[in-house]
Amino acid sequence: MPKLTCLCGENINLSPIPNPQGFKLVWEPLREKLIEELITAYSSAKSEQEFEDLIYKLLYPRNPEFPQIYECSNCQRIAVFARAADSQPTVWYEPKFKGGTINSIRSLVENSQDDEKAQSTQSDYVPLNTYH
Ligand SMILES: [Zn+2]
Repeated sequence: MPKLTCLCGENINLSPIPNPQGFKLVWEPLREKLIEELITAYSSAKSEQEFEDLIYKLLYPRNPEFPQIYECSNCQRIAVFARAADSQPTVWYEPKFKGGTINSIRSLVENSQDDEKAQSTQSDYVPLNTYH
């Protein structure tokens, strides 16, 4: 499914990886399980490559995979795909923004990333180079 036509007529390009209009929907109880699995992966990995392989398996699960979301860059509707391989969205959502500087989900995430970059310091980073 390289392209999706929004209900407003805009074409959403689904090909870029990572897709700037794409999001994964992670259910909070599943997020807690994922955190535990990431910690276990870090503890059990014998090498950086093994740890990287485990991370990809956890963050790109095949069954069940995380539902995929795309935001239209024109009208900001949200298309939710139950599975990334589906040809059509399971549901569309139409947003009602309250005004201000946030006028899309993407701008909300981009702004929070800018805030994190501004607040982080070099000392916050601990390299993952110690394997057992
Ligand atoms: Zn649209």
